[in-house]
Amino acid sequence: MTDCIFCKIAAREIPATIVYETGDVLAFRDVAPKAPVHVLVIPKAHHANLAELASADPALAGEVMAAAAAVAEAEGVGESGYRTITNTGAHAGMEVPHVHVHVLGGAPLGPMLAG
Ligand code: AMP
Repeated sequence: MTDCIFCKIAAREIPATIVYETGDVLAFRDVAPKAPVHVLVIPKAHHANLAELASADPALAGEVMAAAAAVAEAEGVGESGYRTITNTGAHAGMEVPHVHVHVLGGAPLGPMLAG
């Protein structure tokens, strides 16, 4: 998708700090980290959100989650613990409409929801 920032990262058209890659999945550091470890895991193919990915390619959805676990291990937070978040839509505050899993860790993360 031409206007999608994460598609452009996957195509190496804009820079990112890539920490993990398979044939179909890419992981890179969030540009505005909310925790000491904050990595985004995406399918290279464009799917707007989790529902679209799960419907179009459930095997790829599984690959993305397996990659999130592999990233957590590689980042050294597998034992200490980490949180995975996938936002969808306005109420979740989704900013980039290319499905992604946030992998957050490296310190106590506090309650699951603010307030
Ligand atoms: P979400 O609100 O779930 O859509 O999260 C989008 C995330 O993408 C935010 O945490 C942003 O900081 C992050 N982000 C936006 N642009 C970039 C970029 N060019 N490289 C890395 N992370 C980005």
